[in-house]
Amino acid sequence: MSGIAPNLYEQWRASTRAAPALREAADAAPPERLLQHIWQHQRLRREQLRTLDGQQVCVLHPGFWNHEAGPDFRNAILQFGTASPHSGDIEIDLHSAGWRAHRHDRNAAYRNVILHVVWDAESDAHCAVPTLALKLRLDAPLNELSAWFGHDAGVPDLLAGRCSAPLRDLSMNALCELLQQAARIRLRRKASEFAARARQVGWERALWEGLFAALGYKHNVWPMRRVAELLPLLAAGDSNKRGAVLSLQARLLGVSGMLPAELPRTQSGADDYLRRIWDHWWRERGEFVDVTLPRALWRFNGLRPANHPQRRLALAAHWLVEENLPDKLERWFTSEISDGGLSGSLMEVFQAGRDDFWSSHWTLRSARMAKPQPLLGAHRVTDLAVNVVLPWFWTRAEAGRNSTLQQAAEHRYYSWPASEDNALLRLARQRLLAGANARAPWTAARQQGLLQIVRDFCDHSNSLCENCRFPELVRNLDATAAE
Ligand code: SF4
Repeated sequence: MSGIAPNLYEQWRASTRAAPALREAADAAPPERLLQHIWQHQRLRREQLRTLDGQQVCVLHPGFWNHEAGPDFRNAILQFGTASPHSGDIEIDLHSAGWRAHRHDRNAAYRNVILHVVWDAESDAHCAVPTLALKLRLDAPLNELSAWFGHDAGVPDLLAGRCSAPLRDLSMNALCELLQQAARIRLRRKASEFAARARQVGWERALWEGLFAALGYKHNVWPMRRVAELLPLLAAGDSNKRGAVLSLQARLLGVSGMLPAELPRTQSGADDYLRRIWDHWWRERGEFVDVTLPRALWRFNGLRPANHPQRRLALAAHWLVEENLPDKLERWFTSEISDGGLSGSLMEVFQAGRDDFWSSHWTLRSARMAKPQPLLGAHRVTDLAVNVVLPWFWTRAEAGRNSTLQQAAEHRYYSWPASEDNALLRLARQRLLAGANARAPWTAARQQGLLQIVRDFCDHSNSLCENCRFPELVRNLDATAAE
């Protein structure tokens, strides 16, 4: 006996929901997050939806929740009046005025928005895109909806793909095997890119380009790759190691277009570092003027500070000054390492030497952190392993006809622990596995397999899974597996 009342937790929850209910009494707008849930689950009187200018709206698919920068839902399918259905994005705001107040009208990322969903709007509001107000269109009182979303509402059937049912019926072994097989395709695809690039620029440069591209994460892959292509021009000439790191950081940041045109007048700790690299760059920039990237090439919206390209370039300068990163990787690859030690040992290879500025600043202009942070976190190491290091070793071994090393690369690839969750993986799990996270024991390779299925099937279909053969294939696999 614990002595806790059997419904204590329920009472706690109910009491925490009393406040919003009271606020509703005062007619306050609900939190935007609640509106997003309402839209995702379509808790609306769906046959009564009309835009402010009186057009009927039929929601054939609410789209997929975008947890990153840009519109709230992507790839919705709507039908306005009797027009043909069309696909586009949905932005959710409390008020119609939010469209301009949040500058969506000037942001190219919102160009594909086909419906602005708001809580409330004056009927004569001047709207740049069709606008739908939800306040009078909910299918239940707001406090009841709020309580419902507080419980695990799960993934609405509408979001689960058609393959989620046959995948759910697969045995665990069959599901894991399927994901592993898809992961193998992904490994080969990445490997073939390295092989093709190595034929043009050699194995080592292909590796550097892959590492830089991976440091660009998903927003800045191309500018990072371009900086890597310039590396033969940028090698630092300073024999003193710390001086060489600083001078290479100056070149990388300068050539990437990320240094300010003018030095700030104020003087802070960050400005001191900026002044020193600016001094380097100021002397050299004429040499690199033809290859300096426009700053507009970089995307900073929705970036975690740890993924900021300035910080990534600062880390890359350490790797380059060490000069022996490819050798260190080679030693790592040919050493005996237990599966449990893979990530930690690669982390050591990639860890930078001491960096007084970057270990305590996220970007050139950010304030000093309370606690120093490593220049590379464990999750990024997993990305580097499965996207760059292991495909590169795998394909190099294949080119050298060394099946033992190829198998060693595969073994590490399949044994690598799962990477950090991200929006793409969450969406893939939502669609293919109806949100069931725990079903497959996740490894990095199985995550890669899931992404490969999205690429192979979802990317060739639409939100309604039209013409997708994957469900049928899975059903057949199930029949075969059951034989
Ligand atoms: S498009 Fe195909 S693979 Fe993607 S969720 Fe729909 S049925 Fe599944």
